Amino acid sequence: MSATCIFCKIAKREIPSHVVHDDEDSFAFMDIRPIRPGHVLVIPKLHIDHFSDLPDAATTKVLMVAQRLAKKLRADPKLPRVGLLVGGFAVPHAHLHVVPMHDGHDLTSQNYAKVADGKVTYDIANISPAAPESLAEIAKRLRS
Ligand SMILES: [Zn+2]
Repeated sequence: MSATCIFCKIAKREIPSHVVHDDEDSFAFMDIRPIRPGHVLVIPKLHIDHFSDLPDAATTKVLMVAQRLAKKLRADPKLPRVGLLVGGFAVPHAHLHVVPMHDGHDLTSQNYAKVADGKVTYDIANISPAAPESLAEIAKRLRS
């Protein structure tokens, strides 16, 4: 754990979030700027920047939690796919995005993209925050 990392603070519940999963090694919570409703972040409790530097056990745990959440999201018969994404530019604490996909471009959504000065950039800050009630409702469903 890092004293200054926002994801460590969320996992320690020093910063509130819509919690979906919490165990000794991993934590999952609703992304407040969802690409699609139901967008969840799964993190290891270890403070490690790069996903590719995680110990095998932490990688396995994060992927298992993400897989379980993806199955719950797929209980919605209108949802064709759930995508998993590792980026890591926004917060230097390894995290896995679990994103409900209604379109093949949802992981590179135009909501996520911004064109400026002839360049396309992808930044979570380009997505508007979701209503807290919506996040709470989906988090409750995924916890069950
Ligand atoms: Zn951290």
